[in-house]
Amino acid sequence: MKQYLNYVNGKWVESPKTFDDISPVDGSLVATVHEASRELVNEAVSAGHRALAGEWGRTSAAQRVVLLRRIADEMERRQDDFLAAEMADTGKPLAMASSIDVPRGIANFRAFADMLATAPLDSHRLDLPEGAYALNYAARKPLGVVGVISPWNLPLLLLTWKVAPALACGNSVVVKPSEETPGSATLLAEVMEAAGVPAGAFNLVHGFGPNSAGEFVASHPDISAITFTGESRTGSAIMRAAAEGVKPVSFELGGKNAAIIFADCDFEKMLDGMMRALFLNSGQVCLCSERVYVERSIFDRFCTALVERIKAMKVDWPHDPDTHMGPLISAKHRDKVLSYFQLAREEGATFLAGGRVPDFGDKRDLGAWVEPTVITGLSDDARSVREEIFGPICHVAPFDNEREVIARANDTRYGLAATIWTSNLSRAHRVGEAMRVGISWVNTWFLRDLRTPFGGAGISGIGREGGMHSLNFYSELTNVCVRVDAEAENV
Ligand code: NAD
Repeated sequence: MKQYLNYVNGKWVESPKTFDDISPVDGSLVATVHEASRELVNEAVSAGHRALAGEWGRTSAAQRVVLLRRIADEMERRQDDFLAAEMADTGKPLAMASSIDVPRGIANFRAFADMLATAPLDSHRLDLPEGAYALNYAARKPLGVVGVISPWNLPLLLLTWKVAPALACGNSVVVKPSEETPGSATLLAEVMEAAGVPAGAFNLVHGFGPNSAGEFVASHPDISAITFTGESRTGSAIMRAAAEGVKPVSFELGGKNAAIIFADCDFEKMLDGMMRALFLNSGQVCLCSERVYVERSIFDRFCTALVERIKAMKVDWPHDPDTHMGPLISAKHRDKVLSYFQLAREEGATFLAGGRVPDFGDKRDLGAWVEPTVITGLSDDARSVREEIFGPICHVAPFDNEREVIARANDTRYGLAATIWTSNLSRAHRVGEAMRVGISWVNTWFLRDLRTPFGGAGISGIGREGGMHSLNFYSELTNVCVRVDAEAENV
């Protein structure tokens, strides 16, 4: 059986305490994971500081650009291993893991290497009376040891999205992947070792959240900043833990995202896009749409077409290249999603599709599967329309005009993403900007240049990452202001 160890100070560390990594496809055992103790987390943080005081702390930006590219090359060399680890832990379909998760994980290192290589110096000249002036520039330095806590839905993609810029800026990291998906993070530690990342610059600790490695990282007094992706409620617990040390936090949290479909959209392109926005990764992408508003004149047509598309979906073994949807991440999460199906029934929803556990008649019945599901008929204040479910389910509702739908879409404490389907150019810009979210997509979904800001409004996050936004979060900027006199004193 595979063993996933911790990686601290450049060494692989076992633990007397282990837990099981279970496949959501059929409930089989994927690996045994070694849970980091508080002492091991302490050692990881100390190793991070020692690295900063040593060889790692002396690397130049140019050297780190080379290193990040070497990491990307090494990941590329091992992409089949990454693919296997990611699919074993999550059960996500081959088509998705091979086109999104693994390539984006690699691209994150290349993108941040490029950004670091071309990052402008933030400098200004302030003219003073009589020809003197001041030169002001921001010196970019690492924050220190950064705690990286990540979720299970896009394990490699989201972990590297934070590790790459943190290392680019010269920080050490202590990484705590989700307990559900330890595989690709362990491979990433192997890649760091092979790429020659100095001992202590990258540390990996496995475990859970409360009273385990997650909490030990979040509350550690010598961690300089926390970057976290996960549920809004967990963000709030981490913020409390980080408050004592007044630590900077960057949070990418949950969503209850709206899709707005106007009657003037390109109907077939919209349907293609909506099938992805609803069911990619079994609806377990923070950006997936769970609230769908459709202009009344095409509401029935949309519902009929959506149900037809769902009937043609292949919910099947992840390794089948034609599979569209695999299982949810775990039995526990499946039970949460099923509890929302039940809640929706009690709230009076009509089920247009799905709502049950599929019956395969084979060992997948021991996995964590649910059917792609569409409900309708609930008011906007029903709990199943307001709370993040994080599964392959959406509520569809008709709307009558633009102003009304903007107000309804924005009536949420979340504010992560929106997707808008229209062929009216002015409306596209108007509604796109009116959404109180981190990102509005128009006639597309889940597409972004990595140099642009990413984050959430409301309880969907704190701060923005991407491009210079990431480099600024992971850096301590010291403003150096030098006065230059007009006349030389002893010419
Ligand atoms: P989660 O909050 O349960 O767990 C995320 C990580 O936090 C895990 O590593 C977990 O062990 C750790 N953790 C849990 N409690 C902790 C605590 N008290 N202290 C420290 N660490 C703790 O989230 P999840 O279930 O893994 O992921 C799903 C959630 O993530 C959804 O809400 C989804 O919307 C959100 N998400 C957001 C984005 C984004 O970019 N905004 C991206 C992906 C997922």
